[in-house]
Amino acid sequence: MRSQDLFKESKKYLPGGVDSPVRAYEPYPFFAERANGSHIYDVDGRDYVDYCLAYGPMVLGHANPKVTEAVKEQIELGSAYGVPTEKEIELAKLVIKKVPCADMVRFVNSGTEATMSAIRLARAYTGRKKIVKFEGSYHGAHDYVLVKSGSGAMGLPDSPGVPEETTKNTILIPFNDYDAVTQLINNQKEDIAAIIVEPVMGNIGCIPPKEGYLNFLREITNDNNIVLIFDEVITGFRLAEGGAQEYYGVTPDLVTMGKILGGGFPMGSLAGKKEYMEMIAPSGNVYQAGTFNGNPISVSAGLATLKQLNNNFYKELSVKGDYLREGITNIIDEQDLQYQIAGLSSMFQLYFTNREVMDYNDAKTSHTDSFTKYFHKLMDSGVFIPPSQFECCFISLSHGEEELEHTLDAIKQALKD
Ligand SMILES: *Cc1c(COP(=O)(O)O)cnc(C)c1O
Repeated sequence: MRSQDLFKESKKYLPGGVDSPVRAYEPYPFFAERANGSHIYDVDGRDYVDYCLAYGPMVLGHANPKVTEAVKEQIELGSAYGVPTEKEIELAKLVIKKVPCADMVRFVNSGTEATMSAIRLARAYTGRKKIVKFEGSYHGAHDYVLVKSGSGAMGLPDSPGVPEETTKNTILIPFNDYDAVTQLINNQKEDIAAIIVEPVMGNIGCIPPKEGYLNFLREITNDNNIVLIFDEVITGFRLAEGGAQEYYGVTPDLVTMGKILGGGFPMGSLAGKKEYMEMIAPSGNVYQAGTFNGNPISVSAGLATLKQLNNNFYKELSVKGDYLREGITNIIDEQDLQYQIAGLSSMFQLYFTNREVMDYNDAKTSHTDSFTKYFHKLMDSGVFIPPSQFECCFISLSHGEEELEHTLDAIKQALKD
């Protein structure tokens, strides 16, 4: 069956025809047949250079041979045990070695679970209830953080079914704004358990922090005994071996990770300083549990992925990112357009607005109809980016010169049209 027919069929059985909202777009999404390296192939026989990369995880490209080998080896030995394995220790050690704030780690199944648990831990640690999040940031699909959230939910009202009692302790402020943080903390410092932040916002496009902003958050949280949580579900193992905290040289108290960590399999983690992590059950009494936590397949894929990352790896990724961003900037200038190219390292997005994008309100000025046309034009040229203005494009190590050149040609043509 072709994608068009499959979508018709799937809508009968899956709400909206998909298992996660951003995947559905008009007139119908392509259905994947397979993926390899930087390419994804659909059931209609088409081949796309992939900048969605499963929304971030596939930093080595699809079907990396070492990851595939590790998973095959593990699957022969069983896929879930419900008892600990030596590989969990190995992966934990590797995470702790790479990530500055990590003394200990708890493996969970998704980024959503990671942030949910990190917030619980911060509340338990401080004995306070309120958490602060930034407008347009996305920390997964659980109730506490589903307020003015990025990722798919962007532009929609907040979700029905989330009781206001649940979100009344979630305070929203604009990203990259110094005064908003200072004022808030001056007024409510005794009540605030944690600030949770995506160090680079990756769920309303791509918005890096202003220079010094993360340092500022670190200092003000330190001074007021507020837990600083970096949600590095995207940036972890993407910006540097140690994530955004290494890249920017700012160490949070807790970090949540996911996406790349599982090497293409479901996984998340919560990590941080020992004094926090030892509060988690069974070492402490802050409850956290999961049937599939530390799943041996995910752990094997994660290990095989993380072992391939080093400084050179990130240098190479950055070179590719710079090449694309510079190329797009040239195209914008040549065609005398007022669009914004945003991003850093292997993350980028093009905003259809003449306003520099520093926060959620700037991002919302983007002309999303133009983005949608751009998206479809790129698809016609065999380039797949996430179908929403408010997602981020990713580059993998497998993206070669040929793919990057082809992409710039496609972007040039799409913007011209
Ligand atoms: C994707 C994402 C999450 C949620 O992770 P899931 O594995 O989809 O639950 C949380 N935080 C950020 C920053 C993300 O990008």
